[in-house]
Amino acid sequence: MNLDITSDRQLAQRLTIGYTAGLFLIALLSISVHFLLDSVIAQQRDFGTVVNIAGRQRMLSQRIALLAQDATGAGDEDQALLESAINLMERSENAIVRGGDLKIRHQLSDLAHAYYFTGPDALDPQVRLYLAGARAFLKTAPDSAERAAARRALQDKARSGLLPALDGAVTIFEQEANARVDGLRRAQMTVLLILLCAVALEALFIFRPMVRLVSRYTRNLYEMATLDGLTGLSNRRHFMENADRLFRISKRSDVALAAMILDLDHFKQINDVHGHQAGDDVLKFFSAQIRGVLRSSDLCGRTGGEEFAILVPSVTQEMAKEIAERIRVATATVRDDGLPEVTVSIGIAMLGDRDKALDDLLGRADTALYRAKGEGRNRIAL
Ligand code: GH3
Ligand code: MG
Ligand code: MG
Repeated sequence: MNLDITSDRQLAQRLTIGYTAGLFLIALLSISVHFLLDSVIAQQRDFGTVVNIAGRQRMLSQRIALLAQDATGAGDEDQALLESAINLMERSENAIVRGGDLKIRHQLSDLAHAYYFTGPDALDPQVRLYLAGARAFLKTAPDSAERAAARRALQDKARSGLLPALDGAVTIFEQEANARVDGLRRAQMTVLLILLCAVALEALFIFRPMVRLVSRYTRNLYEMATLDGLTGLSNRRHFMENADRLFRISKRSDVALAAMILDLDHFKQINDVHGHQAGDDVLKFFSAQIRGVLRSSDLCGRTGGEEFAILVPSVTQEMAKEIAERIRVATATVRDDGLPEVTVSIGIAMLGDRDKALDDLLGRADTALYRAKGEGRNRIAL
């Protein structure tokens, strides 16, 4: 029964700080997981758009070559389709290299930039050249030799140079998309792992000690409320509660019950002669003697300063007397532990029909005790 209030308060304060910090960290990590997830989704969408546009460029280059086959001249439907395909391909090219008007948050990576702009076979000049060739084709006269040559050049370029180059661009964008999303996924998994660790550590180092502290406090408070601080026996209130229960059970089921009131003899003198501390030690010694004699089913409590009460169920009067005698002898036996000699007087009463309440039974035991005192102390009376 020990409550070290100061150190416990410090511990509680530390736990509260740790608990708050832990919760804050967990909240922060949860939010970052959320944003990472959000960003993975947004990136996936953007990369999807870029890969789509790159694929569309590939398709448009072939469509332009195909439409050039059938376009006969101004006013022709294929000629108009060809013109809009050229415009669309140009817009898409601008979007992909500059993040133009297609509302994608996209910037060319170093690899993609090199692929599009530097080197002898850079894709962007090839595309621009192709588009310029297609526009030149539009301007040629129908059925002219010039038109036929422009058409052939366009188709050659579409098939041999542009198609594999645009394929390459699609592959680059796809690979970059996968690598980027993989990276973000790993980051997200890492944060999630840290989050789980934080929860586990919080449970281990904050919640577990907190629960222990609370249960220790609860246990200690219960002991403080029910036990006598000096002897560790039940205090008066706790003894009376249990005794009342045992009294009613015994009465209802007609089981024998012995009540004893025990009072140390001339205890005031012990205090006066040997001091209060010696008196306390004698009280502890005496309660140890009681404990040594009683069984766990018996009830015992310190009901006053040097007064104790005992209820023993299922015993005859003879057995009760024997128990009391053992306590009396154990107390009065001469010792060499330096404690003052002490004796005890014990009053016994057996539960009978006239005992309507616990107080009746204890009252009769008390009367017996009074007689034991009167007859010279260090004895038992019934
Ligand atoms: P009797 O034989 O008639 O019982 O005489 P007594 O001196 O034991 O009786 P009395 O009731 O006059 O004295 C009881 C004393 O017990 C008075 C009080 O100072 C002492 N006492 C009560 N509680 C404690 C305690 O917790 N510690 C100590 N040391 N003394 C206590
Ligand atoms: Mg006394
Ligand atoms: Mg007394």
